Amino acid sequence: MSEKGIHSMKKLYMARESSEAEMLKGLMEQQGIECSIRNETMLDAIGPLVFCYPEVWILRDEDYAAASQVMEDWRATPSGGKQAWTCPECGEEISGQFDSCWRCAGHEPAVAESLSDHEDT
Ligand SMILES: [Zn+2]
Repeated sequence: MSEKGIHSMKKLYMARESSEAEMLKGLMEQQGIECSIRNETMLDAIGPLVFCYPEVWILRDEDYAAASQVMEDWRATPSGGKQAWTCPECGEEISGQFDSCWRCAGHEPAVAESLSDHEDT
């Protein structure tokens, strides 16, 4: 009684925030890797707490190795404790570990400012 096909998707990553999952999904799509985000939401099972960890799933087995590599690179990028920022070009919310937009390659406002404007003390 195999259910081949139904469970062929592979879970790649469990994010803490949906923005994190969305960002990873965007990176995958840039590499032509099909993925989907599943939200593990249990509203009534536990109680008032909303338990929600979005998971990134890879749709095709053959993409999994490449997807793992993309994720490793992504996780290896030092965050430096920076805040998330909003891309001035496309309005996408970008996690602090990126200096440029993963969607349109636009630059972080603070970086652009520091390049053109010297601190006046
Ligand atoms: Zn952008």
